[in-house]
Amino acid sequence: MAFKTLGLSESVLRGVQAAGYTDPTPIQLRAIPAVLSGRDLIASAQTGTGKTAAFALPILSKLGTHGKPRVLILEPTRELAAQVETAFRDFARFTNINTVAVFGGVGYGRQREELRRGVDVIAATPGRLMDYLKTGEINLRDISILVLDEVDRMLDMGFLPVVKDIIGRCPRERQTLFFSATIPPEIAAVAAFALRDPARIEIGVNRSVNQSVTHALYPVNAGQKFDLLLALLEKIDFQSVLIFSRTKHGADKIARKLKTANHSVAVLHANRSQNQRLEALAGFKSGKYELMVATDIASRGIDVAGVSHVINFDVPENPEDYVHRIGRTGRAQAVGDAFTLVTPENANDIRDIQRFIGAKIPELKLEGFPYQAYTARPEQPAQPRGGHGRAGQGGQRPADGGGRSWGFRGRR
Ligand code: AMP
Repeated sequence: MAFKTLGLSESVLRGVQAAGYTDPTPIQLRAIPAVLSGRDLIASAQTGTGKTAAFALPILSKLGTHGKPRVLILEPTRELAAQVETAFRDFARFTNINTVAVFGGVGYGRQREELRRGVDVIAATPGRLMDYLKTGEINLRDISILVLDEVDRMLDMGFLPVVKDIIGRCPRERQTLFFSATIPPEIAAVAAFALRDPARIEIGVNRSVNQSVTHALYPVNAGQKFDLLLALLEKIDFQSVLIFSRTKHGADKIARKLKTANHSVAVLHANRSQNQRLEALAGFKSGKYELMVATDIASRGIDVAGVSHVINFDVPENPEDYVHRIGRTGRAQAVGDAFTLVTPENANDIRDIQRFIGAKIPELKLEGFPYQAYTARPEQPAQPRGGHGRAGQGGQRPADGGGRSWGFRGRR
């Protein structure tokens, strides 16, 4: 097993084997030796590249056995903290190392109990961690490894001041691992503050979309979007579909309509309670729900193995979010499809996305769908390119005339 050559401990190697991993991914190949060497690290890598194991495996190897709380991992969202906790527990199953996730939105009871029992690794969101730091239930004096994950997301969510505060409470003598998909100036400033002579790893180009994802645009009038979504769901051969809405209200509305159409649907957005969010995610992962409608809260980092399709019901607001959303599918080299419903009003957004990813996204039409004329509202003329004008020709083929199949194999 190629993992054997990387210097991981025997018990961690057994954990890796039990997880079913055979070959390290590129980021694991590069990050594991760097982390084991004790160096600080700054890494930019797309989600889905195996980033979590890239830091979890060497950290667990270094920890060896149960002791004091020595590792702190900061995550921007509760879901990510829970996911990292699960990964650490999986990989550490042949050790006596304990991991706890600390995040808000749920009661303190279970977290307190676990903290009292003694933990080695804390995966936390900044807010709830601060609560425990203030009461003294967690102190960071023995932290020897600090992981700052998805730092650009921390910036988006306004967490940077509290993150800086937390970094300042950790011992100066420590190893710091820093992960961020993009490194704008504010993030570079945090890196300069937190890291010492870091090794740098860049996997893939920040802006590229996952190569194993087949993506396509579906031009449609705003009034026909939901009907097209239903028609697409009828036609595609999917296991599980993540559907993105721009707004929480919109997500609820789409979910309600999908339920009426007899689909099993979970909803994930920030207005739902933590328990509802965990239930939605767990149900979607287990297959209880075949569809999940989410806002961009779910577009980064959430690991839902087996997502076969991402459908952007709404075009994302930021080009970066397009990359993050479709990063949910095609994770770790599985092939996935990502479809975006586009109305004439979205012409500028699409142009920005294509510029951002440096590629043109093919336009498709769904065969047999009763398209109305694709027209822009008068105040914002669209520039339909290629496929828009070809209504009724050639079914769901790439609008540029390419002849490949797009995975419509009929469902069930
Ligand atoms: P991550 O980028 O850490 O969110 O990982 C994305 C997905 O890839 C997760 O489902 C991991 O379990 C999976 N994964 C990570 N590393 C490997 C590996 N070496 N072999 C197979 N699957 C992996």
